[in-house]
Amino acid sequence: MTPTTSLQHFAVNKEGQLVSVGEVERGLACECYCLACQSPSLARQGHIRTWHFAHAQETDCEYAAETALHKAAKECISRGMKLWVPAISVTEIAYSGDRDR
Ligand SMILES: [Zn+2]
Repeated sequence: MTPTTSLQHFAVNKEGQLVSVGEVERGLACECYCLACQSPSLARQGHIRTWHFAHAQETDCEYAAETALHKAAKECISRGMKLWVPAISVTEIAYSGDRDR
């Protein structure tokens, strides 16, 4: 499977709480960890790129962003918060006749 290129917007702090990159201190001062591999993460809060977490050291952790987003969504649902998702479009296709011809 191809590694994700999405940015990691959530991590876990030293108290084990899910936190977003906008609510922690910059860099290693955030004392956060990757939700997928539990390795130390730093908060990148620069002026050019979107704020995100990054692993403090090189790693082969492929699913950090996906895992973080998944856990953040579960946290929102468990807190009874609303979660807005894109509209879903469903199309029904009816076949007539024998499909095996
Ligand atoms: Zn990781």
